Amino acid sequence: MNTVPYTNINELFINGHWKKPATHQYEDVINPATEEVIGRAPLADVSDVELAIQSAREAFDHGPWPKMSFAERIEAMKRFRDCLKAHETDIGALLQAEVGSTYMLVKGLQFTGAIQALDYCIELAAQVKPTSNDVVVTPNLLDPTSSGTLGGAVTVHDAYGVVAGISAYNYPLLINMSKIAPALITGNCLVLKPSPHSPFSALLLGKIAEESGLPPGVLNIVTGGIEAGSTLTTDPRVDLISFTGSDTVGADILAQSAKNLKKVHLELGGKSAMIVRADANLQIAAGNAAFNFTLHAGQGCALLTRFIVHNSIRPMFVEAVKAVLGQLKVGDPADPQTMIGPLISEVALAKTEYYVQKALDEGARLVFGGQRPEGLEKGYFHNPTLFDDVNNASAVAQEEVFGPVGVIIGFDTDEEAIELANNSNFGLSGGIISEDKVAAFTMAKQLRTGDVKINGGTGGLFFQAPFGGYKRSGIGREFGPNWLNEYLLEKSIHYPIG
Ligand code: NAD
Repeated sequence: MNTVPYTNINELFINGHWKKPATHQYEDVINPATEEVIGRAPLADVSDVELAIQSAREAFDHGPWPKMSFAERIEAMKRFRDCLKAHETDIGALLQAEVGSTYMLVKGLQFTGAIQALDYCIELAAQVKPTSNDVVVTPNLLDPTSSGTLGGAVTVHDAYGVVAGISAYNYPLLINMSKIAPALITGNCLVLKPSPHSPFSALLLGKIAEESGLPPGVLNIVTGGIEAGSTLTTDPRVDLISFTGSDTVGADILAQSAKNLKKVHLELGGKSAMIVRADANLQIAAGNAAFNFTLHAGQGCALLTRFIVHNSIRPMFVEAVKAVLGQLKVGDPADPQTMIGPLISEVALAKTEYYVQKALDEGARLVFGGQRPEGLEKGYFHNPTLFDDVNNASAVAQEEVFGPVGVIIGFDTDEEAIELANNSNFGLSGGIISEDKVAAFTMAKQLRTGDVKINGGTGGLFFQAPFGGYKRSGIGREFGPNWLNEYLLEKSIHYPIG
């Protein structure tokens, strides 16, 4: 025990100090690849969360942070970034043990993505400026016979106040940073509550806050599950909730927060479709399909897992995807050769197995995988699993499995493909594979999703464009040029000239 970096943190980070949980309760954190306990995380109770809210409130209402200029906060967040960067190796080792991130994911997404998100916020913050309206003549309501009043307005930005960041387990560092960076750089104070599966990758950010000299109360980190989360969403002292997680919990959070009329930003799940047209480059199509439904063992909100494939090429597509899948190594995430690590828990593995059985029961045809990998006795592993002849209305095509399961549905016309793709309660992401770029672009505009990747898009994270959902996939946008507006209030100051 405790050989994994940061797993010896046994206190909560509140008001710039480390504090034992009030009830002295701790919870085992399991390495999903080995089923071994990597550490015992402190478990916050309601009183701990309330203390964290109070400390954020105090820091916002009376502390220096919201009064600092953007330039000053940019400098503080650059120090935060530099301290984080100095610990890359240790943090990478933790992410592998805590959530089963493969080497490639740590390098390409988890750690690098978190730094890129922070850098992008720094870039955006440098551009926040008051905007002036033109000077205009408006009717003078007190003296309607006059020729009016000459005046103008300037619009300035205020931080919301106390932000609660509640996050999912799959990309914990990136998701936590996508709450911390925009909230803090705009002058808000934050209480972060990570998933119970990934407490250490959040708590370590308290060490970074200390090292980089953030004022007390600006960043508070508590742990726990539903009770801790709902304390944040119902407390009147919290002004804004930034949530990343499932659609069902997102709906609960919206309901919980309604009484106090909080602003709620929701980044939720998906069941995103990739349309493969008859003119697709099959290698590009197969590579993208295999990559998408197996990345991080399918534990990604925006992964394309529903393949809507032109019937004329469907058999060839199936063979091409199978050929790629056959080369993907499932196993120890610390091994640089591994492409597919474990699912997060026994429950997540059972959920994947449930959907595989359900797909079979509903008449889908298993063409690859379907079971746990041989030779891996420990760990929550599942083979990549592909079904053909899937009915788009079936559970495996409509519900988020969050495991390495892909489904293939046939189509004959572009109109049918669009209809099938849009026939979903979700609307997070989409993809089109086609050699006809104009047709692909035209179809992309018809998809009811927050983004569409043509021929794989840029292949990675793209912070410059907004990210978020239509329908049950969310409310609001992360990233993109307007990202910081989610954390800022506009205030118009009007003035007369004559
Ligand atoms: P989850 O919804 O089970 O939990 C997310 C967080 O909510 C956790 O911290 C949990 O403790 C907390 N929580 C649970 N009930 C709560 C309540 N009633 N009030 C307040 N907080 C509560 O999600 P998960 O299993 O951790 O993550 C997987 C889900 O997250 C998937 O649906 C995935 O698609 C989604 N996700 C979305 C994005 C995105 O950016 N759109 C990114 C990553 C993951």
